[in-house]
Amino acid sequence: MTKNNRVPSFLVHCLLIASFFAIASCTAPRPKKPYTIPPINVASAAPESYAWPNATASNAITDLNQEINFSQSAASRIQLPLRKIETKYFILFTNVPEDQSIDFLSDLDQMYTNVIELLNMPPQLNIWKGKAAVYLFNTREQFIRFEKNMYNNTITFQAAICHQHYSGEVRIATYNMKDKEYLHQLMVHEAAHGIIHRYRSPHRIPTWLNEGLAEWAAMSTQQDQSYYTFKKRLSAKFIANKEHFPKTFFGPSDFIPEYYGTALAITDMLIAQGKTDFIRFIDHIKSGKSWQNALNTTYGMTPSALVAAYGNTIDLTSLTIKAE
Ligand SMILES: [Zn+2]
Repeated sequence: MTKNNRVPSFLVHCLLIASFFAIASCTAPRPKKPYTIPPINVASAAPESYAWPNATASNAITDLNQEINFSQSAASRIQLPLRKIETKYFILFTNVPEDQSIDFLSDLDQMYTNVIELLNMPPQLNIWKGKAAVYLFNTREQFIRFEKNMYNNTITFQAAICHQHYSGEVRIATYNMKDKEYLHQLMVHEAAHGIIHRYRSPHRIPTWLNEGLAEWAAMSTQQDQSYYTFKKRLSAKFIANKEHFPKTFFGPSDFIPEYYGTALAITDMLIAQGKTDFIRFIDHIKSGKSWQNALNTTYGMTPSALVAAYGNTIDLTSLTIKAE
């Protein structure tokens, strides 16, 4: 099936719901006090200013050894041998047979660099705690088994998950699906979640913005935009049929697949106003401000004004937010 014919499955993504679950199940304590970050000049900041400080002193070798221990524990619990492949920024554990190439492997570091550059960070920056881990299983069933055994996570429609721990680790799990281009997009999407998690502070950005930004990163690194245009249109149609903007879009949960295209469209709309402002918006949230406050400080807008502006882009004038 070609990409143009493919109905966006929305099965995709990391799912912040799942990511929150990962955080909730993480043994690292959630930071109690808001992180205060010094104001930085984005253009001149030292690379280390971009990543949040790790809770404990650590070094790359210790961090990598901890991940290797985790992978060994996973291999034992799900009874699958996993081999390790390292790239500059990623450590991959996989049971894909050695005679099968892993299509995105050679692109992984370039994908990372692309997302880092999209967010105006220095190209050589390593934002990870050690490296980001990728668990690539040969089958969907093995991915499901990994999630169940290691995170007590029940997979329903997810194709990949980015576990973002408050102790600093970023761990992406997925499987070797037939549609390699889709897997590639998925990896960019998940890596973007990981990068945003590690950016500046552990403060969470809201689900809609996190998904919008991950989709925007995936869209920006693709030559062919038609898939994303289609996705935006489907979501716009979903909103048009409702005749209002559902309040749950901005909530911490209930972020349904139909919202992804709208999240992308709104994020794209904000970024189109200037990347510097958009990064400032993210920085305010990462410094502990609510996204509504950050939106007001950066763009002088309320959520209602944001929704109305989005409505105007899809020919829905006077679009308002309503509870279902
Ligand atoms: Zn996602």
